[in-house]
Amino acid sequence: MSSEIIGSKLSVRSKSDLIDKVFDAITVSGEEGVFQTELCKLFSLDSRDGSRLVGNLEKQSLITREKALYRGRWTYKLVVKKTISMDAEEQKPIDVSMVEGAPCLCCSYQHLCSNEDESNQYSPAKCQIIEEWIVTSFDKFILTQEEQPPSEQEFI
Ligand code: SF4
Repeated sequence: MSSEIIGSKLSVRSKSDLIDKVFDAITVSGEEGVFQTELCKLFSLDSRDGSRLVGNLEKQSLITREKALYRGRWTYKLVVKKTISMDAEEQKPIDVSMVEGAPCLCCSYQHLCSNEDESNQYSPAKCQIIEEWIVTSFDKFILTQEEQPPSEQEFI
């Protein structure tokens, strides 16, 4: 694989799968983490693509990235972020329905998108795609609510 990984030549599904697999690999490495160099080798990514990909995960606050020496060369140690203890996390049911179909998960511009720089053309604040998705999701939510049977209070 090459820079095409993040580019437009691969299907959106493939990019999304790759990001998922890389994140899984980092998660499996646990608290010890994994060196970015090793991860790139594992997924046959060149260093630029590897860096962009883990940069995306870092931007989403899913992992931490710290400079580290690996076989005499500087690279990064990637560790999955542990905001909630695994026990608590396992007990909590995860509701992903609110983010189902979210365009950011498979967006070709995700690696360029940031809300930190106002001059950036790719930002959730300016994004037409995310705006349309929110409006459509909200419409669907309203329709679902209207289809719900009335509550007991409404019968009184
Ligand atoms: S906000 Fe828009 S441009 Fe940014 S990642 Fe989401 S869909 Fe892509």
